[in-house]
Amino acid sequence: MTDSDKDTFTLADALQGGPGLDGYAFQADVYCVPCGQDHVRIAFFARPTVDWNTFRDSEEVPQPIFFGESETEQCCADCGEHLYGPEAGKDLQGFIDEHRTELSITIWKQVPNIPLDDDALGQWIANDEGLYNWAREEGYEV
Ligand SMILES: [Zn+2]
Repeated sequence: MTDSDKDTFTLADALQGGPGLDGYAFQADVYCVPCGQDHVRIAFFARPTVDWNTFRDSEEVPQPIFFGESETEQCCADCGEHLYGPEAGKDLQGFIDEHRTELSITIWKQVPNIPLDDDALGQWIANDEGLYNWAREEGYEV
């Protein structure tokens, strides 16, 4: 999804969640798709004659958003679901604590039986593309 794709995003897409939609922006907050859809429905039922141009105003009606790179954490203003960006306070130790066994098994498949303390696991996560991407996908700062 790029910015230009937003122009082809239809009202039906917005109501149904649509392809590639990450969430909604509405009145200076962001919402996950299910919560955002509730706001879309309310906004459109309140204004059945609203035109498409008005839809582009996120003060009036929730706008579909497609996150690109984001340095800051984005969470749904209704349910608090983490939407994008690094989760506040999630440092790598939490990832290591949560996935120690899986991490060790994965690494030992590559280099059997090497000692893996927290420092070693951190080094592996920083340097192994698969482990790095896994940690990032779960919102940890590597
Ligand atoms: Zn939500």
